[in-house]
Amino acid sequence: MIALVALHRGLLLTQFQRDARTDVTTGLATKRWWRTVAERYLERARANQDSVGVLLLDLDHFKAINDTYGHPTGDLVLREIALSLRDEVREQDVCGRWGGEEFAIALPDIPSAEHLGHIADRIRRRIPQVIVTLPGQDSVISDLTVSIGCALYPAEHLTSVDDVLVAADAALYRAKQAGRNRVELASA
Ligand code: GH3
Ligand code: MG
Ligand code: MG
Repeated sequence: MIALVALHRGLLLTQFQRDARTDVTTGLATKRWWRTVAERYLERARANQDSVGVLLLDLDHFKAINDTYGHPTGDLVLREIALSLRDEVREQDVCGRWGGEEFAIALPDIPSAEHLGHIADRIRRRIPQVIVTLPGQDSVISDLTVSIGCALYPAEHLTSVDDVLVAADAALYRAKQAGRNRVELASA
């Protein structure tokens, strides 16, 4: 009996840990877990004189999807977007749900900002290909677009995960201002 209780508690803990790390809507890392992994990547890069790229992504005009199709369908779209994000990056690149329709990706061992920009642009071109079929209807949702801000660690004034995030967020803001569906790199 005691063994069973202990086993049950063990299972609960595992479940709890999984929930703390995985966003239920998208299956991506939670913001908190993403940050933990990103911190580790930066520490390792610091020790090995390596680099880490960070991408912040925000879907364009996503509110219109919810307004047109409803929130549950919006969630289905977010799940499909999440699957294609994971498909576009390497195993070691951690994709997280940063907020409602915002995502963050940390990519270790990126040789240059230019290389990071190429990866971001590949992701940007992938998003319009995501197709969500609506249950019981003939129509599909497609042609979504995304704006992406990129920053590469290390760079001048970028020494912590927060610094890199602030820089990527400023770049994302510029991508939105410049008309959306585009990639902007953090200015050096
Ligand atoms: P922009 O191009 O400026 O990013 O426009 P937007 O409509 O994507 O941006 P805004 O920040 O104004 O709105 C984000 C919308 O994302 C608001 C809300 O309807 C939707 N959203 C946020 N969280 C969720 C969620 O968990 N599920 C769903 N379905 N929608 C969400
Ligand atoms: Mg947003
Ligand atoms: Mg948006």
